[in-house]
Amino acid sequence: MTTPTKHTTLRTSVLERFLRYVTVDTQSDEDSPSAPSTARQLVLLDQLVAELKSIGIRDAERSEHGVVFATVPANTNKPNVPVIGFVAHVDTSPEASGTNVKPIVHRDYRGGDIALPDDPKAVILVAESSDQAGQVGNDIVTSSGGTLLGADDKAGVAEIMAATEWLMAHPEIPHGTVRIAFTPDEEIGRGVTHFDVERFGAKCAYTVDGEARGQIDTETFSADAMTVTFQGRNTHPGFATGRMVNSIKVAGDFIARLPRDRMSPETTAAREGFVHPYVVEASVDRTSVKLLIRDFVTAGLAGKERFLEQLAREVAADWPGVTVTFKIDESYRNMKEVLDRHPDVVENLRAAVRECGIELKEAAIRGGTDGSRLSFMGLPTPNIFAGGHNFHSRLEWVSAQDMEKAVEVIVRLAQVWETRA
Ligand SMILES: [Zn+2]
Repeated sequence: MTTPTKHTTLRTSVLERFLRYVTVDTQSDEDSPSAPSTARQLVLLDQLVAELKSIGIRDAERSEHGVVFATVPANTNKPNVPVIGFVAHVDTSPEASGTNVKPIVHRDYRGGDIALPDDPKAVILVAESSDQAGQVGNDIVTSSGGTLLGADDKAGVAEIMAATEWLMAHPEIPHGTVRIAFTPDEEIGRGVTHFDVERFGAKCAYTVDGEARGQIDTETFSADAMTVTFQGRNTHPGFATGRMVNSIKVAGDFIARLPRDRMSPETTAAREGFVHPYVVEASVDRTSVKLLIRDFVTAGLAGKERFLEQLAREVAADWPGVTVTFKIDESYRNMKEVLDRHPDVVENLRAAVRECGIELKEAAIRGGTDGSRLSFMGLPTPNIFAGGHNFHSRLEWVSAQDMEKAVEVIVRLAQVWETRA
């Protein structure tokens, strides 16, 4: 492990950390049943524990399932400042390689497309990112083109680490107790499975895992997974006349009748929900269609599920001998339902962003975050920008200046909670 140097500015601290963290391969693996899903994530998690200790955080610890908890002790005289937390995930997406990441710092970016050296086809196009044009003069970090960068979410990890170091080195900044958590396996939907909310002991938390500078996410989809299973009847195809009922054809009929111009990911935007078939397990005897159900209003999920049930029953009625069954599993819920009951959690975040001189952007994200699940586990958790773009791809990029702004927001947010207590 390289020993981190003492940092004099937020930007050098966050950039130096980020460039080190991305070189550790932390890809998670959804086919692995273990927790964490890959042992390589523990390498970075243990490195973070050691670094936290080296900046004076005595209680930094990693659980057997790979969750790091640590505490920045309160330094305020006020007795009633709520404990707040910051959370980021160390794993990177299985969608692109995270092995042997070679980060490149494009200092003083002059505008224009950015060609990455390891692959002639890997070019970050200005035309595809409205945010890139605004980065002229900034220091942009990319991969070398053969791997993802890992800004999702090592930018968030580096930002929380830099903010922690800053708070420890600046006792004149008053704040309450600040809890820190680093988690594995977010990208495969298991990031908070082993997150002990009670032990974390915070009133609320903030994931630092969002995108462009200034954006905060206070609303996510509500999500269910639905399985529609058609049971047919298999026989030897040579003796099938009048006897065989091929469930593959029935499921095909069902899929063909799904709406195309509405209620689909391809044809909806903003606050519209959808139903989305994404896996089919087929045999003549029995075919299951798995669908994602998404809506910003939880009650809207039930409407979509009833629509699918009715459609599947109509299809089954056209194929004598077929029966259809349904299974619905809750995935996650819109965090807004929880955050609305704790308005100060979002209000203080908005104040911190504004006080850092950043334009605030608030959007409903068409997905979920670890914060969606944490919120319903009793820890209200909106999401703060980390500065990354083009997540899960070889064209991922982040600027040092945006990372610095995220660190400022974290530090300021701790102050806002103290001031308003
Ligand atoms: Zn992420």
